[in-house]
Amino acid sequence: MNFDQFNLHPHLAEGIAAMGYTTPTPIQQQAIPPILDGSDVIACAQTGTGKTAAYLLPVLHHMLTRDLNHKFINTLIVAPTRELALQIDQQVEGLAYFAGVSSYAVYGGGDGSDFVRQKRALTEGADIIVATPGKLLSHLNLGYVKVQQLQHLILDEADKMLDMGFYDDIMRIIAHLPKNRQTLLFSATMPPKIRELTKRIMQKPAQINIAISKPAEGILQAAYLTYDRQKLPLIQSLLKDKPLKSVLVFAGKKTEVKAVAAALRKMGLKAADIQSDLAQEEREAVLRNFKNRSLQVLVATDVLSRGIDIEDIDLVINYDVPQNAEDYVHRIGRTARGENGTGVAITFINEKDQRRFNNIEQLIEKEVQKLPLPPQLGSSFEYNPNARVAAGGSRFGGNKQGGGKRKPQQGGKKGSNHGSGEGKPPRPPKNEG
Ligand code: AMP
Repeated sequence: MNFDQFNLHPHLAEGIAAMGYTTPTPIQQQAIPPILDGSDVIACAQTGTGKTAAYLLPVLHHMLTRDLNHKFINTLIVAPTRELALQIDQQVEGLAYFAGVSSYAVYGGGDGSDFVRQKRALTEGADIIVATPGKLLSHLNLGYVKVQQLQHLILDEADKMLDMGFYDDIMRIIAHLPKNRQTLLFSATMPPKIRELTKRIMQKPAQINIAISKPAEGILQAAYLTYDRQKLPLIQSLLKDKPLKSVLVFAGKKTEVKAVAAALRKMGLKAADIQSDLAQEEREAVLRNFKNRSLQVLVATDVLSRGIDIEDIDLVINYDVPQNAEDYVHRIGRTARGENGTGVAITFINEKDQRRFNNIEQLIEKEVQKLPLPPQLGSSFEYNPNARVAAGGSRFGGNKQGGGKRKPQQGGKKGSNHGSGEGKPPRPPKNEG
């Protein structure tokens, strides 16, 4: 299953490819079609499931295929915290990069000049505003926010907003908005108060429930914070002289998969790799040898993480943090199979992957223990779950995208948004074709 099935606008297909997404997550599979059809949607899904793209893609598709009036705000996304608002804004940037759609994040905690910049975005019409409730309401109360032609309202992490006491603010915000709009509500849980809210603000909503994936209890999970250059020596030291029968290593890129397998073979381990360059028969042979234990270590890309049933794997190593949290659960689910299964899953986290790993910890509702590196590998860094991925970082696949198409780096200052502070927030460059 891939994204073609949704018939999204070609500019979005480019954005999806640039973000490195290949397969829609379950929430995307279920939510994109009804949102494209224009229905209101209530979706029960947690952070880490791909919920942001699940609403952004169809909403962006509407913008690209309907008459978009850049003078008005088209879409309002309300989220509980500044961190989440910024994270959503970053995903808009990535997915809408080729679409010529602008977005702006509005949240509290800044100084007077931030307020002036926010006011400018809200009056001169950024296409998408991502906002925290309190700050948005202060602007709405001043009467200049261009919401007259609003098409989409999205409430993200609605349960968290209610927990934080924003129910009344949300109702006041909605009182400022046109009634004829599409409303989407995403929430990890559905307490009665949310039900009440949906009855008041939504029309015949479609309902989607994504079962929360949880790793089996028997899996001992741990992680190392490592710079990329420390990863090979680390995996070598973890596997050296250990009586492990079956080890599965996952890495995102096939170049890494090959390099890791080669390094392990050099140490004398029986290791092989499986990735898309291998012919089907070769893959099957490798898999057979791993299953019958003549291979000790199998290094693979994510093709192997879903479905495949190999019993008794002692150790799963994530050489990098998987793209989405569901994949993490699938990857580590290769160990500790069966009712009383036990196993160990170890993840290597580099500086860029910290935020993504935090999404995983939120999804599995568990903090994974961070282990100190073996001393001979040198020192590492402190875990910072909110570390931002540098613009133009791994997401855009380095030289895969022409440099000319890459969005200019954000200003670095908090709330730098898409505006430089001078004039109206500039629209991202249009794709030259
Ligand atoms: P979210 O649940 O929206 O916070 O997304 C969690 C992470 O998954 C983000 O880093 C997204 O960029 C990533 N993501 C979303 N959809 C996909 C997909 N279809 N394939 C791979 N990664 C995805």
